[in-house]
Amino acid sequence: MLGSVFAKLQRHRSAVVGGAVTFGLLFAVVTGLASAEARRLEAERAITQESELRRVSSVLTKDLDVALGELRSLAFWIEHEPGFATSRFDEYSRRLLERHSMLRATVVLKDDVISQVYPSHPELLGLDASQHRTQGRSVAQLRRTREPLVSGPTNLLPGGDYLILRVPVHRPPAAGTDTYWGHVAFVFDMTPMEQLLTRSSRTLDAHLGLVDADGLGTTAAFALGALGAADTADQTLDILVPAERWRVSVRSLSPPASGVSALLLTGGVLLSLVGGVAIGLLLSTTRRLHEQNDELQKLATTDALTGAFNRRAVVERTEAELVLSQRTGKAFSVLLLDLDHFKAINDEYGHAVGDTALKVIVATVKAELRQTDVVGRWGGEEFLLIAVQTPEAGALELAERLRLRISETQIPAGFTALRLSASFGIAESSATDTAESLIDRADQGLYQAKAKGRNRCASVPVPASSHIVPARRATKTSEQSSL
Ligand code: GH3
Ligand code: MG
Ligand code: MG
Repeated sequence: MLGSVFAKLQRHRSAVVGGAVTFGLLFAVVTGLASAEARRLEAERAITQESELRRVSSVLTKDLDVALGELRSLAFWIEHEPGFATSRFDEYSRRLLERHSMLRATVVLKDDVISQVYPSHPELLGLDASQHRTQGRSVAQLRRTREPLVSGPTNLLPGGDYLILRVPVHRPPAAGTDTYWGHVAFVFDMTPMEQLLTRSSRTLDAHLGLVDADGLGTTAAFALGALGAADTADQTLDILVPAERWRVSVRSLSPPASGVSALLLTGGVLLSLVGGVAIGLLLSTTRRLHEQNDELQKLATTDALTGAFNRRAVVERTEAELVLSQRTGKAFSVLLLDLDHFKAINDEYGHAVGDTALKVIVATVKAELRQTDVVGRWGGEEFLLIAVQTPEAGALELAERLRLRISETQIPAGFTALRLSASFGIAESSATDTAESLIDRADQGLYQAKAKGRNRCASVPVPASSHIVPARRATKTSEQSSL
């Protein structure tokens, strides 16, 4: 079983190797393309993430910047208007809250104690922010730095966590002197920020998060969105807000690049496999066609019984040798071999023994000839031999050797063996010969050999004017005793 598989593989080695090489080449191209595609998608994703982070941060900072501007105006107003009235404060704050969806309350804190709140929250009035559990530290920092700051989250107002933006107020304003009067504050709802992150997460198919990166000495005072400070992120972007640094982070949920490249790779490998098999089959088919072609060629030129060339093929070979000899000036010879009294063999021993005799004779002749010489079946028990590059003398010697060998050969015939003899007609090629004229001379020689009693060789000389090689004796015959 294994052996036959191995033998088949051996037989179709070129197809297997061709298929494997094709597969290898396609595979290399496909993996190259897949990894290039993966890199391209990775880069594309990074660019998309980065631009989304920038968009989110600009929305956040823009809102805070506008709010800071408004709060600075309020602080300026309090600083410059001694008769700062609650009614005007309420009107101003109402308009602010209408304009800014994130804004939940405006607060005035004289000496950091809540003196005014819009909308009205009487329970907050009088609350000392500097003593407050979560606000105390930010208020202390405000007093120290005299710079706006954002802090939180805190649950100062009922109903959720809020960020607080504070701006100091000085009265009267004077640089370098300690005229700290208190501060004004905006209370922000964090929900719109959270919603912004959620929407971006959905668009990107990613997790987005906002963390208070280094608030008032505390890391991660608050975290919004699905990505916390401890989570690994693909990209982060820091946002500077008053006295704070926030960090927005993003991490892709599905690694699209590897997913797509795996898909591409799988498809590519399958394609490579199909390509490899197709080339293998193509090569295998081509090889089989070549083999069949060779087989047909052989059938068309070979005599089925003896394996010698058939008559057409041996004539063609004679014509080819004539062309060659006329170009090189080197003569060759043809020998017509006819078995003597062959009819009697058939009659006495039967046709099958006659067939065997023909095969044995061809094998005997082939064994005596040179590799380049040719044996063809001229018809019946007659054979045409081509002795290449052999002039008449050599051909006569060869014929004599063959005649002897044939006469010695034992032909199996049932329980016994028989012997045969053969007659030979020899002709050397000349410059003017055609295949027909050359073979015809050999036939004349054969006729003479038969006429003189068989089992002998006779050559018919080249007409004097057509010699390729120097002229030889007019006629030569060899005579041997019959069987
Ligand atoms: P000679 O050549 O000596 O004059 O006598 P011969 O008997 O050999 O001559 P002939 O040409 O009269 O007979 C040739 C015989 O060869 C006729 C036929 O029975 C036989 N023969 C021809 N082709 C085949 C073949 O393919 N197989 C067998 N068994 N016999 C064949
Ligand atoms: Mg004969
Ligand atoms: Mg004959």
